[in-house]
Amino acid sequence: MDLPTIPLPEFSPGWVWLVGAGPGDPALLTLAAVHALQSADAVVYDALVDRRILALANENAEQIYAGKRGGRPSRKQPDISARLVQLARAGHRVLRLKGGDPFVFGRGGEEALALVAAGVPFRIVPGITAAIGGLAYAGIPVTHRDINTAVTFVTGHNITGDVPDDLDWPALARGAPVLVFYMALKHLDEITTRLIDSGRDANEPAAIVASATTSEQQVIETTLGAAAKCAEEVSPPALFVVGEVVRLRAGLDWLGALSGRVLDADPLGLSDARDAG
Ligand code: SAH
Repeated sequence: MDLPTIPLPEFSPGWVWLVGAGPGDPALLTLAAVHALQSADAVVYDALVDRRILALANENAEQIYAGKRGGRPSRKQPDISARLVQLARAGHRVLRLKGGDPFVFGRGGEEALALVAAGVPFRIVPGITAAIGGLAYAGIPVTHRDINTAVTFVTGHNITGDVPDDLDWPALARGAPVLVFYMALKHLDEITTRLIDSGRDANEPAAIVASATTSEQQVIETTLGAAAKCAEEVSPPALFVVGEVVRLRAGLDWLGALSGRVLDADPLGLSDARDAG
């Protein structure tokens, strides 16, 4: 693939680049990510990295799977960091490819600190995180001036795979009008119950967005109270979003419009309200 002639940093032997691959659609890769794929000697990738993205790696690159997926056998984090150090010390250009953005619920910080400890030089290439890119493909903006001035990203899993117990649920529920949960499917029942118990309205719009930006994308529009029952209808990876922004999908489902959905230019009913007022 020819890239525009913009200056790209040199990927030197002995370096590790921690690169975000975006939520799935290869078209959402950054130019730096494509450059890294074309230059790397070793690509260490996670479960969520799309095959079509790995196919962009140069043909001599060794591809090493370091996936972790809830409930399945996985490599341990220290093993992955040690492997990165070992490959870099052997003089390889090491591309550590992660789904979404490497610094958003992706342990990129942990891996980078292991490189610092080992004296291995590294670069971070941000990627489009699932909450932003994935919801955009579902026609749901994470902010809208008429709805919210803040958005909260939350993980539904902690390090042991349970719902994080250090979360202040009442504060979370009271905080931003829009909440986006990563890794939420498994514990959706507990998450939605806790939010409602902490004061969020069970009738609030909510959506589950699975395999966003891929051909398998699935979007279920529901309510906070009814969402947990829908969890069985989808497979991971999935996001869970709570808030009035979900209603904007009636106007902004641009992917749906490509297959004939008629979009509503006033999904929040604001022109009626303005006329009446
Ligand atoms: N670093 C990643 C997040 C890794 S955690 C990022 O910035 O996006 C993995 C979680 O991300 C999944 O459990 C899911 O909640 C979310 N996710 C990643 N890709 C997704 C996709 N294509 N569709 C929906 N959710 C996705």
